[in-house]
Amino acid sequence: MPYRRLILITCILCVGLAVILLNLRNRTDHPPAVDDERPYRRGAMFYDELEDEAVQCRMCFRDCIIAEGETGFCRNRRNVDGRLYNVVHGHPSAVHVEPVEAEPAHHFLPDTDVLCIGTASCNFRCKFCHNWSLSQQSMDEMDVTHDLTPEEVVDRAEKAGVPAISFTYNEPTAFYEYAYDIARLAQQRGIAVMVHTNGALNPEPLRALLPYTDAMIVDLKAFNQEYYRRMTDAELEPVLRNLKIIHEEGVWLEIVNLILPKMNDDPEEIRDMATWIADNLGPEVPLHFSRFFPAYQLPDLSPTPVSTLEAAYDAARGAGLQYVSIGNVPGHAKNSTYCPQCDTTLIERRHFSVMNIRLEDGHCPECGEKIPGIWEGKGRAPVPGGIDGD
Ligand code: SF4
Ligand SMILES: [Zn+2]
Repeated sequence: MPYRRLILITCILCVGLAVILLNLRNRTDHPPAVDDERPYRRGAMFYDELEDEAVQCRMCFRDCIIAEGETGFCRNRRNVDGRLYNVVHGHPSAVHVEPVEAEPAHHFLPDTDVLCIGTASCNFRCKFCHNWSLSQQSMDEMDVTHDLTPEEVVDRAEKAGVPAISFTYNEPTAFYEYAYDIARLAQQRGIAVMVHTNGALNPEPLRALLPYTDAMIVDLKAFNQEYYRRMTDAELEPVLRNLKIIHEEGVWLEIVNLILPKMNDDPEEIRDMATWIADNLGPEVPLHFSRFFPAYQLPDLSPTPVSTLEAAYDAARGAGLQYVSIGNVPGHAKNSTYCPQCDTTLIERRHFSVMNIRLEDGHCPECGEKIPGIWEGKGRAPVPGGIDGD
């Protein structure tokens, strides 16, 4: 190779390396998320003050101890001078109106649009995350964040004429205070609230949010502790505990299980999961099996075979669950809702579109079976004391 060309290639490689190193440094050396023009809007809830200006966050199962100037594992809760702040409060990264079926929610205000909102970051590290560009970056690393107070979010929902707001896209635990403030305002103004969560909050913040919540959609990633640790860097037990709390508190609950081929698709394990749901939460809790497509750190894993999803469906129905569905397979018949007594099609869906609803006042039109769910309305009655109660 001629000497001058060698020098040129070496220079290009050096510049490339410098750019990568600079970029890496910027991505790991998070500066404070909010400057003087965007001050922290909200102190965090649920934390303890420790010695030397450290704090212990009590929001989720991690119970992070956070030194002054640092942020917790979820990247959103920052210790400033011994006080904890949620840096994404008022700064959503995604706000869209979408069909409620996209959550997926099948027994909650079917065939309506809801205002979906999410921010940066998460308290899990799922290798398969479909929303990783939101969930696995801090607010500083995001290209886009908006300024939207809780009041403005509820205004936006009203203006859009939607019956509900959904906290989704990334984990609501990571923007708990924002979700909490929006939920309380929404309830006052007759707008329902949905929370799509990985379900690993601590019991106290969960119980504080439930009175302002109309529906919880919980991702149960597997019925396997080892899978939780290896694939999500999280724990199964807090999720199971919280499913029971949500059920006990009477908030409408649907469960989503994303099936990855050869990772969490063992029909026996799925039968155990469905049996646990039936025994602990009741056979009427909807369970959605969702198809995996290559994403984030698993770009080479194949999409879940439809036959695997169908085997999971059979296992769950065999364990006694009454409302099981298959999602992310547009046109699949098992995406619709059927009467568990007479098999009449009650809600016919094609992916996120509802083609037909045959419920009559929440009952099967053929056999009269009562079908559980929230079929109409604009959210539950305000909690006594309301927004001014705190
Ligand atoms: S919410 Fe965030 S800071 Fe708090 S314990 Fe969980 S991961 Fe840690
Ligand atoms: Zn029927």
